[in-house]
Amino acid sequence: MKKIFTFAVTILVTISTLTAQRVESTEVLNKIKNEAFNNSGIKEISFWFTDFMGARLSASDMYLRAENIAKCIFDSIGLENIKTEKAGDFNFQGWDYEKCYIAMTQPYYSNFTSLPAAWCGSTDGKISGKIIYLNAKNDDEMEQFRGKLKGGIVLLPSSNSYNDPHYADPNRLRRSETDLIAMQFDADVNKLRQTSKSSTTLLSYDKATISGGQLNKLRSFAQNEGAAAIIFEDGYYNVLSGQSPWFYNRIENPAPEIAISKEEQGRMVRMIEHNIAVNVELEVSAKTNGNYEITNLFAEIPGRSKKHKGEYVLIGAHLDSWLGGTGANDNASGCIVATEAMRILKAIDAKPQRTIRIALWSGEEQGIIGSAEFAKSKNLDKSEEAEKIVLYLNTDNGSGQFRGICIEGNYEAEKFFKEWGAPIKSLGFTTISPHNSYRTDHTSLVKYGIPAYQFIQDNMGYGLSYHTNMDRYERLAIEDMKCNAAIIAWLALNAANDDAKIPLFIK
Ligand SMILES: [Zn+2]
Repeated sequence: MKKIFTFAVTILVTISTLTAQRVESTEVLNKIKNEAFNNSGIKEISFWFTDFMGARLSASDMYLRAENIAKCIFDSIGLENIKTEKAGDFNFQGWDYEKCYIAMTQPYYSNFTSLPAAWCGSTDGKISGKIIYLNAKNDDEMEQFRGKLKGGIVLLPSSNSYNDPHYADPNRLRRSETDLIAMQFDADVNKLRQTSKSSTTLLSYDKATISGGQLNKLRSFAQNEGAAAIIFEDGYYNVLSGQSPWFYNRIENPAPEIAISKEEQGRMVRMIEHNIAVNVELEVSAKTNGNYEITNLFAEIPGRSKKHKGEYVLIGAHLDSWLGGTGANDNASGCIVATEAMRILKAIDAKPQRTIRIALWSGEEQGIIGSAEFAKSKNLDKSEEAEKIVLYLNTDNGSGQFRGICIEGNYEAEKFFKEWGAPIKSLGFTTISPHNSYRTDHTSLVKYGIPAYQFIQDNMGYGLSYHTNMDRYERLAIEDMKCNAAIIAWLALNAANDDAKIPLFIK
């Protein structure tokens, strides 16, 4: 018994004194900074990953196109062993849309910003007709529509109160008491303005009359009753999330569904409530592509050490996006900073001891499929396999400045990041948190004890445009991304060259 105890203590002491053996030189850091800030590739790489790529739902034709574009980018910066690997099967095949159009034609013409619901069906060319407003607050009211929706264009009610939370709370523009006092007493203006807080009280807008559960019922009802098309409200200020009901609750041969803004939906509803007929014309053309595979993309800078052969540092992000916008913050930004980090390492002619590999995952939006299947295919449940990945750095919280890293409870990692991180405090990398970060691709590796982490990041435009048609190049915090790429390049190189490595840690 005593012998076992001593043995356990020895292991503990050995582990707890394990620390980074060496940190790369200031000269190397200066080269990285020079490349990151004076020769930055961020803007150029951002263009290809957003404007040129477009939206890319997992397994869609647009995704396969995005994968090819990423391969060309990797090739152009001199990465090696560029390859896609099948990660796993997809529950449902890839889906793309070629056309989505809707306009009100009566009582006057007005076209709408719109998005189809992902994985919805198509109309038979352009269809038009009078709107049927399926305004049913309960089952009894819903039953009154039975047999009346077939071939009709159905407008769903909204389950969201209109409270304008993000974009323009008008109260924020009101003059506060402090502002008024400040206008009376000139001498105090500056002091008073510093203490003035904008009001966060919301105005009393239209309240929703139905629940989310009732809305889902109505949607299914309209589908089952054979509606020709379904129109639903999906955001304010023409910022549409395009959240797809059929992605979560898929049915055979779904009807086309079009998302429009709350303002457009509200205008039609109010007209219908005044007994004014509302006509629309619309067209959705979408197709599935028979692709039931989720693939991941890899490229690398090979390591040259024999001693560390087979070991590698992994950096990455998910390439798949939601269907509105160009997936700029979610998650082109992660792909961009990882790619730029690889470009920087090639540009400074880094010759790492261990291989540095970039991974662009797929299927993240449908349940973190790509990275999870990767972990299975590499047998990461065996510790000798898991130990080959000495560090994984994931980015999936937008383009805001990295402020540090979440080490997922692995306290042994703290010592490494303290040492590797000390020279990059000026780049904003200051905080090492024991906390877990948001659930995304790194968790597929954390599960097997691998030091797989996400950075602590400034939110910037991430929450505002998340999954919407406004997640575009313009949301990217370009200057922040330059810093982030330098931080990834520096940490990846340190982990690749350090003889010591962060021990596995199973939670
Ligand atoms: Zn994401």
